[in-house]
Formats: sequence, structure tokens, C-alpha cells
Amino acid sequence: MSLPWHVVRLSGLYVLDLLFPRRCVSCGKVGGYFCQSCYKKIEFVGRQICPVCAKPSIDGFAHPRCRTSFGLGGMYAACHYKGPIKDAIHLLKYRFVSDIVDSLTDVYIKYYPKNLYKLDYLVPVPLHKKREKERGFNQSLLLAKSLSKKLNLPVLDILIRTRYTKPQVDLAGKDRRTNLQNVFSCVTNADIKEKSIGLVDDVATTRTTLMECAKELKKQGAESVFGLVLAHG
Ligand SMILES: [Zn+2]
Ligand SMILES: [Zn+2]
Repeated sequence: MSLPWHVVRLSGLYVLDLLFPRRCVSCGKVGGYFCQSCYKKIEFVGRQICPVCAKPSIDGFAHPRCRTSFGLGGMYAACHYKGPIKDAIHLLKYRFVSDIVDSLTDVYIKYYPKNLYKLDYLVPVPLHKKREKERGFNQSLLLAKSLSKKLNLPVLDILIRTRYTKPQVDLAGKDRRTNLQNVFSCVTNADIKEKSIGLVDDVATTRTTLMECAKELKKQGAESVFGLVLAHG
């Protein structure tokens, strides 16, 4: 091992990365997180949808009739939440392989039209402090930081999750909405007045999280909020 131990983070994350070589998230082939053949199985989103009504919309902009003062202006999802992307996100979130983030960002920006939304800042969807402590990191913040380098946009970590909630996947449709009501807040000194925000999340299933976060950012004065999600579905 070439790295001295003092540069190896003691939380264990990087130690694991050094001890075990990178393997394909789906088939286990050594070399990288996506081998060539599994990379081909990633299902990129061909037609973006309106984040409000989920019907097709050009570039993911919210339809004029779907737009509200405290709602999302649009959403760009890179992939469908299945196959190798699902495996990779699972590795990141539940097996704490944090250095997979850069590979995921490469996937994210593959078809992302950089001038799509005129963004001023990237803001990650927050985790509750308790869950962030358990995991050691907020995967959305890692994604936002990695995206920030590629898109040349600053990251503002200004949203807070005030309540510890059940994972959305465990809930039925109606409960998902109530589960997240008043869960998020924006730090009061955040200067985002009239700014355009890219709200970064790893997975959006019902888009409720994005909508609730957008509401808080808009209350704080943001001009527009666009969801930037790696995987949808
Ligand atoms: Zn593979
Ligand atoms: Zn719509």
C-alpha cells in the first residue's frame, strides 16, 4: 500500500477502497465501477418529464399550467433507477463506497445539456443529522460537490432536515407526501434571493422530496428551483 496510514480516513471508508480494488457494480469484473458491457445497460432517460404532472415535457421544464410560485421549475433526470445505476447507488448509500461518486457524476453529465437551466448554485437535498452520522456522509452533498467541478457551479449546503422520517420507499403514495410535510427548512442567512438553484439528489421516486425542498428555497427568495437527479423511478 503506497499511501501512509495518516492520510487514510479513519472512518473506514477509504481504507476499504484501498484494500479492495474497484469492481463493476453489477457483474464484479475488476477494473472500474462500470465495466463496458454493464455501462451499456445503463438506461438513460430519453424523454424528460414535467416534475409536477409526470407527463413528457421538453427538457424537463414544468408545463406552464403546472407551474406554481413555490414549485419546481423543472427536473432533469439522467437515468432510470434500475440495472447498474441502481446497483451503484445501493453501493454508495448502503455499503458506503463514497468514491463511486465521481463515476456516477460522469454518468450524470453524459447527456446533460450544460446550458439547460441558467443556474447560480447547486444545493444538495439534506439527510437528517442522525442518518448522516450513521452513513458518514450525505450522498447528495457528495454528488453536488462532484457535479460542481464539472458544471463549474458553487455548492450551498443550506437545507436542513428537521425531522427524522421513515424512508419514502416504505410508504404508500399518500403517506409519502404527509411523511415529508414540514421536514425541510432553509438556513435563514442563506443569500439566494432571485437566484436559480439546481437541487441535487441521487434518486427521485415520487419527486415529493424535491417539491418540499423547492418550497423552502423559494420561501427564502430563490427565483427558480430545478431538480437535478441522477436516477428517477
Ligand atoms: Zn459489469
Ligand atoms: Zn406538467
